[in-house]
Amino acid sequence: MVIIISAPSGSGKSTLVNALIKEVPNLSFSVSYTTRKPRGAEVEGQHYHYISREEFEQRIAAGEFLEYAEVFGNYYGTHQSYAQKAEAAGCDLLLDIDVQGAMQVMEKALDAVSVFIVAPSKDVLEERLRKRSEDSEEVIQRRLQEASQEVRYAEKYDYIIINDKVEESAENLISIVRAERVRRQRLAESLKPILQTYLQDPQ
Ligand code: 5GP
Repeated sequence: MVIIISAPSGSGKSTLVNALIKEVPNLSFSVSYTTRKPRGAEVEGQHYHYISREEFEQRIAAGEFLEYAEVFGNYYGTHQSYAQKAEAAGCDLLLDIDVQGAMQVMEKALDAVSVFIVAPSKDVLEERLRKRSEDSEEVIQRRLQEASQEVRYAEKYDYIIINDKVEESAENLISIVRAERVRRQRLAESLKPILQTYLQDPQ
């Protein structure tokens, strides 16, 4: 299963994704390729693979990306190899990607479940962006504008989490993944012999 998670910047996505990874086993997080520069304490290979625009475009031409998009003037993309690695390891693939990338993955009709995370209102989002005091006024305004665009896609996702109380939202995200796993077990070959035991004639 591919789990797509998108959210406007400042919605609390990273906290929820970290809670999910901590709580639910067998999740494989896809480390994206990007042309943006590393920020703060970000580590190559852990947060992103940082490459040049030229290299990114070569990789697009070679068809290496499952999806890619241009966000805030930089390329971001999911490399095919992460999907293959997750499948080989028997893990579900976790994608933290923007709405454009999410639409591409949904169109490919992979076995995907999609979750959109949003703050309870634009005012609350603005307050959160200001509180984390990471960004200049110009960047905050740009993020708010972006959020208005991204929220237009929310209803295309299977689930929308209104991130009001973080513990509750984390519980909801964890529950979604657990329930979607159980739902897929219905189709598993391993279920047949179990159900078969009920169909044998009594002695
Ligand atoms: P940031 O630069 O703040 O880490 O990420 C900016 C945006 O790019 C976020 O919305 C994030 O979800 C998105 N993003 C990160 N990796 C990918 C990717 O591989 N593909 C797409 N389409 N978006 C990505």
